[in-house]
Amino acid sequence: MNDVVCCLLGSAGFDRAAQGVLGAGRRLADSLGGKLRAIVMGPAEDALTSGAAAVADVVVVAADPALAEYNPETCLTALAELVKQAEPKAVLLGNDTYSQELAARLAHRLGGSAAGDAVEVAAEGEQLRVTRGVYGGKATAVIALARSPGVVWVRARAIEPASAEGRSPGTVENASLEVTADPRVKVVERHVEAKEGVRLEDAQIIVSGGRGLGGPEPFEELKTLADTMGAQMAASRAACDAGWVPPSWQVGQTGKKVAPELYLAVAISGASQHIMGIADAKVICAINRDADAPIFKHCRFGIVEDYQKVVGPLRERLSALK
Ligand SMILES: Cc1cc2nc3c(=O)[nH]c(=O)nc-3n(C[C@H](O)[C@H](O)[C@H](O)COP(=O)(O)OP(=O)(O)OC[C@H]3O[C@@H](n4cnc5c(N)ncnc54)[C@H](O)[C@@H]3O)c2cc1C
Repeated sequence: MNDVVCCLLGSAGFDRAAQGVLGAGRRLADSLGGKLRAIVMGPAEDALTSGAAAVADVVVVAADPALAEYNPETCLTALAELVKQAEPKAVLLGNDTYSQELAARLAHRLGGSAAGDAVEVAAEGEQLRVTRGVYGGKATAVIALARSPGVVWVRARAIEPASAEGRSPGTVENASLEVTADPRVKVVERHVEAKEGVRLEDAQIIVSGGRGLGGPEPFEELKTLADTMGAQMAASRAACDAGWVPPSWQVGQTGKKVAPELYLAVAISGASQHIMGIADAKVICAINRDADAPIFKHCRFGIVEDYQKVVGPLRERLSALK
């Protein structure tokens, strides 16, 4: 079969990541001459089902209560069953933690191939080819997937959504599936962090601070600059590990992957693990007093200076321009 399945998590909603996964799926299905089927795991808002139906041929919603709270074992078993029913050539997922966790295990269960961090998934004859960044984004590799289905998690926010123009909406159906909650994994406690503004992953402008700020107080000053710019705040792992800011601010390999229009890195050295989180940013700017800091290799604009001499005047200038 030449069909493509996009797996979306109901709890995430119809965000930019879901749109990116569907965009990659739609283009791949069209090039294979197959259908695009979106599988929504867990109860979902109408915005997700209708948004998916706008570009997919079929939307299958697995809204069983056992899938309402993410449990990797239950979700994997249910997803594997639904994918088996669809017999697709490819299964695409996003690059959130849950999807990454599911992708490799799903490929193993289905006897398929797995690849991750894809910026493009294309068909060459019968074979799927996945393009991905390697060596911290310094080079690009094209990987041929030998087995079917190819299960790929994509850098969702870096991928163009599909246009719904000229398409009639796909059908929306409930999954025909019996789901049993897997007792091996239980959520014992849940902490919901108070959120200010948009999610970091969806932010258009991000101001991020590093260890060079020297403590939690300078982050307050940086926040006033971020407010002036209408930006969300983020940080390097060093600043989060020091307890200066919440762990949820961390950007990088083991933190969030962001894709803003503008990323301003203040007193961040630019270690490869940090850069992995900002590889999809359109414009990176940095303020660092060390002209040899690696961050400058990734920057469109850079200021070599002590941040204390730059942040205040920059904020005043931007306020005046407003
Ligand atoms: C497996 C693994 C995963 C990791 N995952 C992540 C991750 O997800 N995210 C992440 O960020 N890191 C991650 N790291 C850590 C990463 O390797 C770096 O240690 C970390 O990013 C460094 O943070 P930093 O740039 O804030 O600090 P530093 O490397 O200490 O850099 C501080 C910078 O501030 C500059 N500076 C100092 N004072 C001033 C001043 N007054 N004005 C202007 N500039 C100044 C310095 O010149 C320096 O460049 C990971 C590491 C490992 C091993």
